[in-house]
Amino acid sequence: MQGFNMGRYVPPDQEGLMSGNQLHGKHALGARANKISQGILTVRFEMPFPIWCTHCPKPTIIGQGVRFNAEKKKVGNYFSSAIYSFRMKHTACGGWIEIRTDPKNTAYVVTEGARKRDLGEDKVEEGDIKIMTKEEREAMRNNAFASLEGKIEDKQRLEYSKKRLEELQDLSEQMWDDPYEQNKRLRRSFREGRKQREKEAGVTVALQDKMSLGLDLLPEHEDDARRAALIDYGEVDAERVTDKAISKPLFKIEEPALKSRSKLKASKASRALKAEELARKKKENIASEIRGNTRAAMDPFLADSRAAKSDSKPFLAGVKRKQSQLEEDAPITTAGVNLVDYDSD
Ligand SMILES: [Zn+2]
Repeated sequence: MQGFNMGRYVPPDQEGLMSGNQLHGKHALGARANKISQGILTVRFEMPFPIWCTHCPKPTIIGQGVRFNAEKKKVGNYFSSAIYSFRMKHTACGGWIEIRTDPKNTAYVVTEGARKRDLGEDKVEEGDIKIMTKEEREAMRNNAFASLEGKIEDKQRLEYSKKRLEELQDLSEQMWDDPYEQNKRLRRSFREGRKQREKEAGVTVALQDKMSLGLDLLPEHEDDARRAALIDYGEVDAERVTDKAISKPLFKIEEPALKSRSKLKASKASRALKAEELARKKKENIASEIRGNTRAAMDPFLADSRAAKSDSKPFLAGVKRKQSQLEEDAPITTAGVNLVDYDSD
């Protein structure tokens, strides 16, 4: 029956003196405590492992996790831990099965009416807590001491390591005992080169502004200066300039692949992409300009004799662009050769 006081009426004269359960001779746990006078409480017991029922005429297995209304009873003690027995009836055959707790091995053992299914997993696995007897524990301890003996080397190494560690710690403390002083020292060293660095950065920015360069400039290097000294800028060879001019086609022909690609890009690309393309073109122009104007600095007399020896054929106008490109590339190769060629003729 549901509700307030569970249907157990307590008359007004008994109120506060007796509880409803006491008045009606009932236990607070209800029907589960029917055999409480014998020390038996009915509980829901779940089979911890599969078992074979020995009462059944045919071998029948009761699976792990099957639940029973079992009579729980204290049957003994292992030191201060109680040993409980759980008795339950197998509904298929009506036979009684008893399972007891085993505090010594922290397990359940089947004591009556069934046997545990052999799964071959009784060995101790990693992570399992193995309960050892007093003798086993003693043997283990002796073994541990035996294994520790004769390890003087390890001890010495430990001593040395400890000493070294302390030394290092002392040194570190010594070096950093005055953070203010360290900070001052670091800042001083940084301040020394600051003016110089700022000046260099200013020069770079000025150059970028002046040339409208869309590219980053690296700091100047000694090698750059040396190489630059070996190079003349600007066209001085009149004959070569003429050759170059003749070799170029009269009307500028764009390469079809490049044209179509740029067209495609123009149709698709956004304004940002266009700006990028422009910057890239500018960069290429600068590079080709520098390349075109570069030739190795050399003895003018030497240059004359070489020019006389090499029979330069002027290209005809109107021929393909490829040849003009070849001509454009030529100065680099000659510059490279002259840079490494030290013979004199
Ligand atoms: Zn059975």
